[in-house]
Amino acid sequence: MRAVVLGDSLELQSERPTPTPLADEVLVRVLVAGVCETDLQLVKGYMGFRGVLGHEFVGVAESGPLAGRRVVGEINCACWRCETCKGGRPSHCPNRTVLGILNHDGAFADVIAVPQRNLHAVPDAIPTDHAVFTEPLAAAFQILEQVAIRTTDRVVVLGDGRLGNLCAQVLASVSSRVLVVGKHPEKLAMLAGLGLATAVLADVPAERWADVVVDCTGSETGLPTSLSLVRPRGTIVLKTTIAGTQTLAWAPFVIDEVTLVGSRCGPFDRALTALAAGRVDVRPLISTRYDLSSGVAALATARDKSVLKVLIDVEQS
Ligand SMILES: [Zn+2]
Ligand SMILES: [Zn+2]
Repeated sequence: MRAVVLGDSLELQSERPTPTPLADEVLVRVLVAGVCETDLQLVKGYMGFRGVLGHEFVGVAESGPLAGRRVVGEINCACWRCETCKGGRPSHCPNRTVLGILNHDGAFADVIAVPQRNLHAVPDAIPTDHAVFTEPLAAAFQILEQVAIRTTDRVVVLGDGRLGNLCAQVLASVSSRVLVVGKHPEKLAMLAGLGLATAVLADVPAERWADVVVDCTGSETGLPTSLSLVRPRGTIVLKTTIAGTQTLAWAPFVIDEVTLVGSRCGPFDRALTALAAGRVDVRPLISTRYDLSSGVAALATARDKSVLKVLIDVEQS
């Protein structure tokens, strides 16, 4: 099969063996996959991953209860036996693999092996091109699972990129005072078109007024900027993962009793419900698309700051 493989470099392999599913896994024929910031970080060395990239996908299950149906898949492959799994935190299982990120081949390929229990059927109402946003949209909904946000809370989303856009749309469903702070006029214009308030950082009052700041910058500057905007006893939600280390003056967290919440993967069911109801509009996010055979070029394009989501077409549905 074809696959975009990260080794010493990133390459398209045309004759990679089809994955051999474990006992609890089924093979999924990939229809469409999405390129995410994490993929770009992995190429830079984050997690030291080697193998087939890709963790945002829609495919058709080849076997199991969902055989023949369109499916999306949660990315954490847990052991379901350890104390963490038994305690209800399988996405943090210390024995886990993660599709396309940690010791498990991913979805930039004709076929991916996925644990059966990770699969969710895609409702017929959701086009494949929308369903491919389920995984990042679930990550946006995770914020609501972690932080109680009220209608009147002043929420700042830092970053006008792929994840910032989805987080802003999700947060706007609970707070009427969401402000997206970005750098790119055309991306901010798109968010404004969705009915969201936007600003460039230079125009945001240099005071600490936000109840909640969500860092979706994907940049080392995100956390210090968040700290400059959050009010005492406010909350910073950190979505940014970067490959390197960073230094920060941590005293303000103590002095101002700021809560820092790391936030990662989220509930697929909430994301699918929102997509089926049309409550989140992902269409403006699709910047361009490539065939899997040009998967390396797809990742290069996704690195361009003017681009939002790059889709990879694997098979016609
Ligand atoms: Zn991702
Ligand atoms: Zn476990």
